Amino acid sequence: MRYYTLRHKDVAHVAASKDGHRAYILRAYMTMNTLLMKGHDGSIPGLSEAVDLDSPDVQILSPIPHPRQDMICLGINYADHAKEAESFDKEAFSKERPDPIFFSKRVSFSQGTGDIIPMHEDICDSLDYETELGVVIGRQAKDVKASDALDYIFGYTIVNDVSARNLQTKHKQWYFGKSLDGFTPMGPCIVSKDEFDGIPELDIKTFVNGELRQSSNTANLITGIPEIIEILSAGMTLEPGTVIATGTPSGVAMGMDPPAFLQDGDEVVCEIEGIGRLVNICKKSSAG
Ligand code: MG
Repeated sequence: MRYYTLRHKDVAHVAASKDGHRAYILRAYMTMNTLLMKGHDGSIPGLSEAVDLDSPDVQILSPIPHPRQDMICLGINYADHAKEAESFDKEAFSKERPDPIFFSKRVSFSQGTGDIIPMHEDICDSLDYETELGVVIGRQAKDVKASDALDYIFGYTIVNDVSARNLQTKHKQWYFGKSLDGFTPMGPCIVSKDEFDGIPELDIKTFVNGELRQSSNTANLITGIPEIIEILSAGMTLEPGTVIATGTPSGVAMGMDPPAFLQDGDEVVCEIEGIGRLVNICKKSSAG
C-alpha cells in the first residue's frame, strides 16, 4: 500500500492507494503521525471517498509534513560517498569510522513533491542535494535485534537531505547546515514494507535538470537497515513515526570537480525504485 498526505478541497487528508493513481481518504486518521501510532491493516473502508492523485484538485504533500521528532540521519553510509566527501574537505570528512555516524536534522516542516527548496542565499553559498531512503518506524522499538528489525518498520519513503555545505563545514557539526527551513523534502508517499521482499534493495538516483548525478542501490549501504535499528534501539526508544534517513551515495554537488552546487531554478529529482519520484525546484528568497 502507498500512503499519502494530500490536500483536497483545501483540507489535508491521509489517503491510501494501491496503484499510485487512485487514492482513498482514510478519515479515521487526522494525520500520518496518527496512522503510524495506531497502525493500519491495509484495508480500505467500503465508504471511503476516492480521489485521483493525478487530478489538479489534489496536491500531494509530504507524507509526514510535521514529524513528531527530529529526523535521525546517517552520515557517510555509502563507501563511494566517503571518498568524494573527503576530497571536498579533508578536515571535515576524513576520519576513521568503524561505527556509523548518526546526526539529527530538525524538520519543523517537511515539504512534498512539487514544492520549492528555499536557497537561504543570505547564509548559504553551497546548496547540495542528498537522495536517501527514509525508513519509517511503525512500532515502538527498544532493544531490537537486527534479525527482528523488519517487524518494527512501517515502510519506506524518499528523503532529500538538503545541505548547506558551507555551514556544515564552518560549524564543525552538521545539525545547523542540514536543518534550515525547507531542507527536508520528503515523499511522494510512504510505501508499506509488505510491498517489498524483506529488506529492500532499491535503485536510488538523483537528476538535476535532467542530468543523472547520483546512481546506486540501497544494497550498498555500509550499515544496513536492520543493523541501524539494532544499534540505535539498544540505547534510545524509537517511537512510531520516527524517520531514519539512511545516507546518500556518491554524486553530490560537493563531490564534483569543480563542485556544481544548486542554483536558482534548478530542478532536483530524487528517485527510488518502487517508491517514486520526489521533485523540487530551488528558489532564492529574493526571487519572491
Ligand atoms: Mg545525508
